[in-house]
Amino acid sequence: MYKLSILLFTVVLLLSSCNSENKDPNKTTKEMTKNPLLVKWDTPFGVPPFDKIKSEDYLPALRQAIVLHNKEIKSILNNTEKASFKNTIEALEISGADLKKVSGVFFAIEAANTNKILKETSKTMAPELTAHFDEIQLNTNLFNRIKSVYKQKEKLNLSAEELHLLNETYKNYVQAGVNVEGKDKERLKQINKKLASLSIKFGTNLLDETNSFEVHTNTKKDLGNLSESLIALAADEAKKRGHETGWSFTLQRPSINPFLETSPNRTMREKLFQGYAMRGNNDNEKDNKAIVSEMTSLRAEKAKLLGYPTWADKVLANRMAATPKKVYDLMDQLWPSALAMAKKDRNTFAKMMKDEGIKDTFRGSDWRYYVAKVRAERYDFNEEETRPYFEFNNVRDGAFKLANTLFGLEFKPLKTIPTWHKDQQVFEVLEGNKHIGVIYMDFFARESKRGGAWMNEVRMQSNVNGKYVTPIVTNNFNFPAPSGDKPSLLSFSEAQTVFHEFGHALHGLLSNVKYASLSGTNVPRDFVEFPSQVMENWMSEPQVLATYAKHYKTGKVIPKALIEKMNKANNFDVGFRTVEYMAATYLDLNWHTLTNTKKQAVNTFEKAAMHKIGLIKEILPRYRSTYYAHIFSGGYSAGYYSYLWSEVLDADTFNEFKKTGNIFDKNLAKKYRAMLAAGGSKSGMDLYKDFIGRDPKIGPLLIKKGFKK
Ligand SMILES: [Zn+2]
Repeated sequence: MYKLSILLFTVVLLLSSCNSENKDPNKTTKEMTKNPLLVKWDTPFGVPPFDKIKSEDYLPALRQAIVLHNKEIKSILNNTEKASFKNTIEALEISGADLKKVSGVFFAIEAANTNKILKETSKTMAPELTAHFDEIQLNTNLFNRIKSVYKQKEKLNLSAEELHLLNETYKNYVQAGVNVEGKDKERLKQINKKLASLSIKFGTNLLDETNSFEVHTNTKKDLGNLSESLIALAADEAKKRGHETGWSFTLQRPSINPFLETSPNRTMREKLFQGYAMRGNNDNEKDNKAIVSEMTSLRAEKAKLLGYPTWADKVLANRMAATPKKVYDLMDQLWPSALAMAKKDRNTFAKMMKDEGIKDTFRGSDWRYYVAKVRAERYDFNEEETRPYFEFNNVRDGAFKLANTLFGLEFKPLKTIPTWHKDQQVFEVLEGNKHIGVIYMDFFARESKRGGAWMNEVRMQSNVNGKYVTPIVTNNFNFPAPSGDKPSLLSFSEAQTVFHEFGHALHGLLSNVKYASLSGTNVPRDFVEFPSQVMENWMSEPQVLATYAKHYKTGKVIPKALIEKMNKANNFDVGFRTVEYMAATYLDLNWHTLTNTKKQAVNTFEKAAMHKIGLIKEILPRYRSTYYAHIFSGGYSAGYYSYLWSEVLDADTFNEFKKTGNIFDKNLAKKYRAMLAAGGSKSGMDLYKDFIGRDPKIGPLLIKKGFKK
């Protein structure tokens, strides 16, 4: 449920150490004039002509667009006039229009309807794109122009958005290291290279450690009440791993979690649990401890070179939270209640185990087993019961209706528009007669689509030099397609996902700023999940459910009792879930607030960090250091807290609507829309304060999670 461009950017960064092929863009210039990606698109609303674009067209178009971008950069550099906001900052912002146009389409289709050619193109272009942007951001002459504008920024009489663009541009170049000189510059390059390769090594070690482990049994009793489909999967796994009979369980979450929940065999549970917890920590050739201590040391060093006290300070300078202290403050407010609730649950479970006659101490590997037991005994809820009420077209219309009630938007089907797959549904978004944008919705799973659900912006909204560009966005899901007369029925949480991604889509669609790089979902990472998560609140309100959650056969609205039962069943182990998530967040921050480059002994460091917050031994952080892919092989270092941060904002916002006595309050909805419209043209905190009129409050989240009455 991430915003896609963030992921892609990470991928691009990760692949930056690969070699690029030789290229000769001039060779193909003649063909370029015919490349359907580079000509003006003569389509309704200027959407990409998917009926004319072939997979082979992307690679030459991307390369040609890079050449064109370089030409534009060169003319900015060669400008003999004194550097000004217009001829440098704005010129940079609008440069590379073709590259944005082509890559916007490419990234969208490569994720949602890929094939061999597109995959190859992605692999080839990732290092070329990284090198291209590195070259621009590390260009000292270009930076000198930017700096000279930045230095006189107070005198330039810029609008708030222009000033923000100037500040962001300057900061991005500084953070890329353009300011670092001489020996330090060489060192910075070394560190970047080393960090990139260590991070790839971390990932492959983890993958190998995860895949090499199994627990096998020939005893049916060990499976407990595991569902038939999961039993079949475990039997397949056993065959794949060379067993003639029996069932195998692995460290992949869809395998380990159900086993921990259902197997009555404590020894096997413990073995699997420990296998999971010790990944990358087995003192073998796949061990990640040395990588973790080296990466955290290098990051501390890099932060210093760039002028920040710690790595977290560097990362958070781009976030709404701004400083590590702000994040710690938030966490410390939530932690005691979550921990207290988890401790209470542990005592309950330990007593249950004792009552069952098991004379051993309650362990981490027992936790999920007793959660599942209590859930079944006390709540009697099965999510499958919700499916008949969430036929996918109804859910989509429910989301549209909500956008209509809150913001007056209407959605008109565009039946003849070119698409990249026949399952895609396309809508024009209107407000009265005014065209707002276009949304492509792609609901069903297929082999050519990556997993999960996401939104992306094929074209960002902008409004430079009197040219208003309307946005084109996509929503993508992996729901089962209808078959025969069986419609596609979603579970409650899948329906929630539709509203979530639609929230991202609205953020892109309602954007109304000048510059594309500050528009739509181009906001800090700890802000980006807020407009999507907040939609999940409306989605489950009775007034909203009544508009769309109707039984696909009878048309009856989902019973209130079923929703209540579901909420109770889902909420009861919130203490555990919050504690395991937050422990990982503390660990992330501890690693990234190191003020010196001394290499740390990983296990000792982690133990001390967890001791400091009083984590109980029956709960592990959701990720321990040696398998913390988010922060050591993904783009989330010093950023794992972002989910929680967005949750604070979404709970606070929805509570504000509730306080008015009307969850569709027009006045508040107008202010909320103004915040979405502002995209990333202001700092996250300013956006939020403009909307709600004060600092964010944590109280509503504490109540929502049941930590406070
Ligand atoms: Zn999301």
